[in-house]
Amino acid sequence: MISVQEGQAHILAQVTSVTPPELVPVAHALGRVLADDLQAPFDVPPADNSAVDGYAVSSADLPVSGAATLHVIADLPAGSVFDGAVKVGQAVRIMTGAPVPAGADTVVPQELVERVGDAIKIPTIAKGANVRLAGEDVRAGAVVIPSGSVLRPQELGLIASLGLLQVLVRQRVRVAILSTGDEVAEPGEPRKPGQIYDSNRFSLRGLVEEAGGVAADFGIVPDIKDELKAKLLEASRAAEIVLTSGGVSVGIYDLVKDVLGEIGGIDFWQVAMQPGRPLAVGRIGGSLFFGLPGNPVASMLTFILFVRPALWKLAGRRETFPVQFTAIAAEPMRKKAGRREFKRGILTFGSRGWEVRTTGPQGSGILTSMVAANCLIILEEPRGDVKAGETVLVEPFGALHA
Ligand code: AMP
Ligand code: MG
Repeated sequence: MISVQEGQAHILAQVTSVTPPELVPVAHALGRVLADDLQAPFDVPPADNSAVDGYAVSSADLPVSGAATLHVIADLPAGSVFDGAVKVGQAVRIMTGAPVPAGADTVVPQELVERVGDAIKIPTIAKGANVRLAGEDVRAGAVVIPSGSVLRPQELGLIASLGLLQVLVRQRVRVAILSTGDEVAEPGEPRKPGQIYDSNRFSLRGLVEEAGGVAADFGIVPDIKDELKAKLLEASRAAEIVLTSGGVSVGIYDLVKDVLGEIGGIDFWQVAMQPGRPLAVGRIGGSLFFGLPGNPVASMLTFILFVRPALWKLAGRRETFPVQFTAIAAEPMRKKAGRREFKRGILTFGSRGWEVRTTGPQGSGILTSMVAANCLIILEEPRGDVKAGETVLVEPFGALHA
C-alpha cells in the first residue's frame, strides 16, 4: 500500500518534460498556459493622463485659498493630444484618459469649475490631483504574467493592452482514452444481456478537456491481447498520456500487465484511499500510461488525484493542484482511519460559513453521487469518524486556482 501523496509524488517525478510552445491568437488563448514570462514592452499607461473630464493646469496656478482665474487655450476632444505647453495662467480642457499636456501636472474636475467664455474659475485642489502617472499600472520591462500561468479573461485583456495579438503558450497535452472489457457497450448501440454502457470514456474526456487537454477517443477494446496491444501502441503514438479504465482489479488485469510488460513498463499500486484503490501506472514508449479503475466514481477520482497533476505539469503549469479549503461538516461521516477517503459533497454557504454534507450513498459505482455533488470532501488518513460540526477539507469541482 502507498499513500495518495506518495503516489502523486512518484507520478510527478516521472514528468520531466513540458509540451512545446506555440503561438496562438490572444482571442483563442483562454485557458491556455503561458510558455514564457510576459514582459511589458512599454509603460502602462504610456503617459501621464487625466483620470477625469476637466481642466489641465499647472500646480503653480492653484489658489492657496479662494479661487483663481485661468485662460482656456484649447478644448481637446477625446482622443486628441495637445502638443503645445500650458503656461502660467493657462488651462487646457481635456477628457478622461487624454495625456496631460506639458506644463500641466494637475487636473481640475469640470464640476468644480465655473466657465465663462474662455475664462475659468478654479478652487484650491491638491497638486497632482486626478493625474494617472505613466507606468502606474505596469512598468516597462516588468513581468506582468509569469510563465506557467493559466490565461483567464483578465490575462487576455492585459496581453491585449500591451498591443499583442498573439501569445506564446504550451501545446495542449493529448490524452488517449480507451475503455476495456467485454461487458462494456457503446452508447447508441444495443446492449447485450450482462452489458453496461460505457460511461467512463465520456466522463474522462470531460475531465481531460476541463483540465485543458485534448482527448483522443480510442473506443472500447475487447479482452483480446493482440487487439489491446495494437490499440495501446497506436494510442501512445497519438498522445502524451494514455488512459484505460476497467480491468485493473480483476478480469483483464493480467492482460494489461502482460501487454504493458511487452511494450513498456507498469506498476500496480494499491493506494490507501477510498474509493479507487487499485491503480496501474506505467509507460508506453514516451507516453505515460494510467490504468484507472472501472467503477465510474473511482475512475473520475483517480483521474483528479493522479492524472490531472501529471497533465498540468506536462502542460507547463506552475500549479499542479487546485485550491482546497475547510468547511463545517453538517452531518456525521463514517471514516476508517489509515486511508484517505473522498466523499462527494454539497457545499453551501450558511450562517456558520461554508458547510458541507454528503450526497448520500457513496458507493464507487454510484455516478449520480458525482452528479449531485459540487465538491469532494477529503478526509485525511489519521482521521476516524467525523462528528457533525467538525471541520473537513473540501475541494470544489470546477477548480479554483491559486
Ligand atoms: P473492473 O475495474 O473492470 O473490475 O470494473 C469495475 C466496475 O466498473 C465493473 O462494475 C465494471 O462493469 C465497471 N466498468 C468498467 N469499465 C467501465 C466503463 N467504461 N464505463 C462504466 N463502467 C465501467
Ligand atoms: Mg472489467
